[in-house]
Amino acid sequence: MLDVKTTYKSFENYAQFISTTDYDEIRELSQELEGLRVLHINATAYGGGVAEILHTLVPLMQDIGLKVEWKVIEGTQEFFEFTKRMHNALQGKEDNLTEADRNLFYEITKKNSDVVFNDYDVIVIHDPQPVALPKFVDNRGSVKLVWRCHIDTSTPNQQFINFIDSFMDYYDAGIFTLKRYAGQLKVKRLYEIPPSIDPLSDKNRELTDEELKEAINKLKIDPSKPVITQVSRFDPWKDPKGVVDVYRSLKVKYPDLQLLLIGSMATDDPEGWEIYEDLLRYVGMDYDIRVLSNLNGIGNIEVNAAQKISQVVLQKSLREGFALTVSEALWKGTPVVGGNVGGIPLQIEHENNGYLVNNIEEAIRYTDNLLADADLRKRMGLEGKEIVRSKFLITRHLKDYLKLFRDMVK
Ligand code: UDP
Repeated sequence: MLDVKTTYKSFENYAQFISTTDYDEIRELSQELEGLRVLHINATAYGGGVAEILHTLVPLMQDIGLKVEWKVIEGTQEFFEFTKRMHNALQGKEDNLTEADRNLFYEITKKNSDVVFNDYDVIVIHDPQPVALPKFVDNRGSVKLVWRCHIDTSTPNQQFINFIDSFMDYYDAGIFTLKRYAGQLKVKRLYEIPPSIDPLSDKNRELTDEELKEAINKLKIDPSKPVITQVSRFDPWKDPKGVVDVYRSLKVKYPDLQLLLIGSMATDDPEGWEIYEDLLRYVGMDYDIRVLSNLNGIGNIEVNAAQKISQVVLQKSLREGFALTVSEALWKGTPVVGGNVGGIPLQIEHENNGYLVNNIEEAIRYTDNLLADADLRKRMGLEGKEIVRSKFLITRHLKDYLKLFRDMVK
């Protein structure tokens, strides 16, 4: 297992985003929990929502007085191919769990079992990749184990969910984005904690004019013409081709329209390359579509700029855990047209701060509404920012975790 280093963050800087009641509550909880030894374990330090959150949550927990570490498991290409299949199957995809799959999963988990559970008071294990660790770690001591699942496992493939369920007995609690995501899993204590964004990160902070200009140059778009954007891992559930279809249909009415498809390659997601190549073929020779990724130097500031300057952000997922990208766009005052799945309806109130869509036709119609009406965009943008401020900032997330830790150790 590898240690992940994070950069220092001061909780004081976040006071500006929260009420004094929330501020005081966090300070009281942190006093109560001072010195608590916490370990987060997940599968990747970069790419995807979980890593994104831990890069802020871990330093903030440290700053308020907890002793927090973050480790990632090490796996082979074959292992991550399997865990990606598992991810898809847990979201409902047909698949067959073989004896060889189980053996591979156990073999790699065992190789990562060089962690001393007894050194910590609480360990939070994120998602299915490291879920089996407790099976192989001796000397558990009095540590409390929490499994944080970011996937909607309520309509899963039965073989895979049974497999995951076979580990639930090791855990003292489970956290899901929505309680109902746990479905049939036998979780001892079930917590509902939605994800959140960091308003001060490069991804979400206010950019200077200079930064914005530079980022637009890197994105190679013309900001005087309309832009629609989707930011997502290259993954079929995010429906990037559907987004291209929406763009193509609207291009007839808005000949200047540009489409930005920004996707990252996560180290634990080998499927990404295939989807990326396939998407390039689908896009073909249309130079008003730009398919960009971290491999073209598109980092947090460029993603920030794209979400900020777009007239509409799309998140046309077919299945989704939460979709941080929705909160990220809303925080910048950009309305979002999002799939009516997973955590997206938590963030989009239909016709208030964006639109929830069930198919391409609806996505076309509502994106068109927004492209045609600057006042509507502005009004929805303001509503969206307010929803994120009240529900989906990292400060709320931090408070939820502290409360859970208190429950675990009292
Ligand atoms: N992301 C990014 N660059 C990309 C694609 C995604 O920085 O090219 C980030 C995105 O901004 C968000 C996270 O990765 O913070 C994706 O989280 P989300 O919950 O939307 O989806 P997940 O990848 O966890 O399914």
